[in-house]
Amino acid sequence: MNETVLSNCIVVGFVNYGESDRIVKLFSKERGLISAIAKRIRSHKHKWLGLLEVGHTLEVTLTPPKNDLWLLTGIQEIGSTSTIRKDLLKLSTMQYCCEVTATLSITDDPNPKLYGLLEHTLGLLKHMPTPGSAVLNGFAIKALAISGHPPQLETCTLCTQPIKTGTDRYFHSALGSMVHQRCIENPQHQPIHAQHLFHTPKQWRTDVEALLKQPMLTYWESNIATVKINKRSATWLLTELIEHTVERGVRSRSVLQTLYP
Ligand SMILES: [Zn+2]
Repeated sequence: MNETVLSNCIVVGFVNYGESDRIVKLFSKERGLISAIAKRIRSHKHKWLGLLEVGHTLEVTLTPPKNDLWLLTGIQEIGSTSTIRKDLLKLSTMQYCCEVTATLSITDDPNPKLYGLLEHTLGLLKHMPTPGSAVLNGFAIKALAISGHPPQLETCTLCTQPIKTGTDRYFHSALGSMVHQRCIENPQHQPIHAQHLFHTPKQWRTDVEALLKQPMLTYWESNIATVKINKRSATWLLTELIEHTVERGVRSRSVLQTLYP
């Protein structure tokens, strides 16, 4: 049988299947996102079980897919996550970055830049201190930009005019854009779904632009301004944008949300 070896794969998600199988989402440098099944690994403490966890870097051997599902026939560990797993914030950030990567990726569509971003972030999580909330936001905006969905922070989508500092502006998480207050109030632009609007703190836009442009290492321990409106926080605006872009929830935010205000 034709076997394929993928030498750089990161486990970005999994579901247990049936009595003892596990279906893993692998993000491969060479192939992009693929799904593969590992059979009979959940019984008898199979040695693969500990390797097929989110965040691990592996070299895998696969046989070609049936119904888009590859069969895993060999695994070699390249990078372990044991140091990350000792710290709840690091672990949750890793799970978030892996889920965002999976969410923004298309099956069988390689994205080496996104792979590089995830690999780099996992490396920093291993060696750096506990990250601040700037890291998950930095990952989110870099991943959005790499995947072709950068938020529009400088101009208002509704009127296409620049947003000047000092003017009253909101971030619209479904449009992925800053909007003027005057444009929201303009009946011409109705209906604007108010639940997507967030009055951002003054420095939010420049902070987010810096997260995109600067290396993650430079803001590793920083937190982004935590402005809360009702139960929403500016910390999660970029995640909301991802959720609107892909039309489904980012599940791993729920743990992180209890750790960051
Ligand atoms: Zn406008």
